[in-house]
Amino acid sequence: MTETIKIAYLYEDLMNTYGDSGDVKILSFLLKEQGYDTIVDNISLGMKFNAFDYDFVFFGGGQDFEQSVVAPDLQRHRQTIKDYIEADKPMLCICGGYQFLGKYYETSSGDTIPGLNILPLHTIFKADSRMIGDTEYKTKWGTVKAFENHSGRTYFDDKDKLKPFGTMIQGYGNNPDSGQEGMRYKNTIGSYSHGPILRNENVARAIADEIIKSHKERMAKKVK
Ligand code: GLN
Repeated sequence: MTETIKIAYLYEDLMNTYGDSGDVKILSFLLKEQGYDTIVDNISLGMKFNAFDYDFVFFGGGQDFEQSVVAPDLQRHRQTIKDYIEADKPMLCICGGYQFLGKYYETSSGDTIPGLNILPLHTIFKADSRMIGDTEYKTKWGTVKAFENHSGRTYFDDKDKLKPFGTMIQGYGNNPDSGQEGMRYKNTIGSYSHGPILRNENVARAIADEIIKSHKERMAKKVK
């Protein structure tokens, strides 16, 4: 019998800018190649969510308006997402989803959108520029080419705890000053890359492998 991998897409109907839902489609394709079916659940406003029911959690990007709609609802899931991340389970967060892992996001209109406050980072707006364009950067899985479009600048509050996802060759990444793209903590990746990012097969295959590992662990626990 074919095994089914379960993916949670947080607020798929609201957080899906610039082709981010393509990331989940690419993963489903790669997992199918390895003999697994996938179910993708949209965890939207008001729904129940236990991260440990899933093998992978995905959080896409969003406009400021959608982020302000999602923020209050998201707080309900803080503990399960925190426990999931700390348990070394795989998660990919893009742009607005990445910003939500931190303390807050200060928008261009001066609003402060609260984050989950799980990881030591914060995001602010500065009047001079929106960061838009093609990006290229080096990661531990090789070079990544993608696209960014954000006004938030992300800064790490604990540089020992968080590792950058990549080192910039072209584009801005986290902010115009650091030369760094995104964040890695345990098995969680945060990134400003759309495109979708997983058109970069090197990263997509590495994440697909982590998802299969996570699935096997979840199944082994169920049997006990
Ligand atoms: N709204 C956020 C910003 O502009 C995130 C953008 C995005 O997710 N594409 O920084």
